[in-house]
Amino acid sequence: MPRAHTCSELLAEGTARLREAGVDRPRFEAELLLGHVAGLRREKLLLSAQKPVPAAWQAGFLRAVTRRAGGEPYAYVVGHKEFMSLDLLVSPHVLIPRPETELLVELGLRFLRESWFLEGSPSDPRGPLAIDVGTGSGAVALALAHGLPGLRVLALDVSEAAAAVAARNAARLGLADRVTVLVSDLLTSPELPPPGTADLVLANLPYVPAGVFGKLAPGVASFEPRLALDGGPDGLSLIRRLVPQAADIIRPGGACALECGPEQCTLLAGLLSRSGFAGIQVHRDLAGRARVVWGIRDGQGHQGTGGRG
Ligand code: GLN
Repeated sequence: MPRAHTCSELLAEGTARLREAGVDRPRFEAELLLGHVAGLRREKLLLSAQKPVPAAWQAGFLRAVTRRAGGEPYAYVVGHKEFMSLDLLVSPHVLIPRPETELLVELGLRFLRESWFLEGSPSDPRGPLAIDVGTGSGAVALALAHGLPGLRVLALDVSEAAAAVAARNAARLGLADRVTVLVSDLLTSPELPPPGTADLVLANLPYVPAGVFGKLAPGVASFEPRLALDGGPDGLSLIRRLVPQAADIIRPGGACALECGPEQCTLLAGLLSRSGFAGIQVHRDLAGRARVVWGIRDGQGHQGTGGRG
């Protein structure tokens, strides 16, 4: 580059490249990316449109534009994603938290508030215990802990790399004293609490059917971890393993809520009711699609997969 570019010139160049790559709001994203690289709010940058931009920022900006133009999700390029007003670090080892997953957290918080404050937590004087299975970035676990002071949360992931991201997020948000991150294949870690002690199990496990995986938006299929999305032949392989494990660890009267695809909710409702859950409900997400199946652990012991109707 013969001379330093101004903000306005750089933004024009970035916008053109993002537009060519088919990015939806190219100018807006270019502004956000330059703001990210410069560590400045977008509004401040726009006030200094004619100022020359330092060479390091130019190079950083053009690298970010190249990644974004290559189809990489915006959240990975900047390394952050907001979820329920929490700023979370994300890396390609974790799924980018989705707005529809807020439903899981809202249902969980409502249940915990009601059963703790109104009925008194029957399980533990230290406060209620929630478990987030397949925590990824820690989004669900951290939003729960943030939303309910005094709640203890176990955040589990089979991926060590994902667990490391969740632990960093817990520390950054000052929630590490109440959110414990463990590497665990679903609910199998020996470090988990004994059966019948959890008040709530939430999970946004992989549920995309293997056959549909190739049809996901390119940014999803090529950049997000397959481990966090691919749910096997009908999408429910992991959820099917989890349900009886959840029935064991949840106390009678405790709750389980699982995110799934709209066409899987009926099947999942059946799985829960056969594993000792009652009061099954299907909840819709912000877009009106069936998204979360909810059940309350009934009072009698878990009787295995064929047990009850
Ligand atoms: N809702 C996500 C998607 O469609 C899938 C998340 C998941 O598999 N848990 O990309």
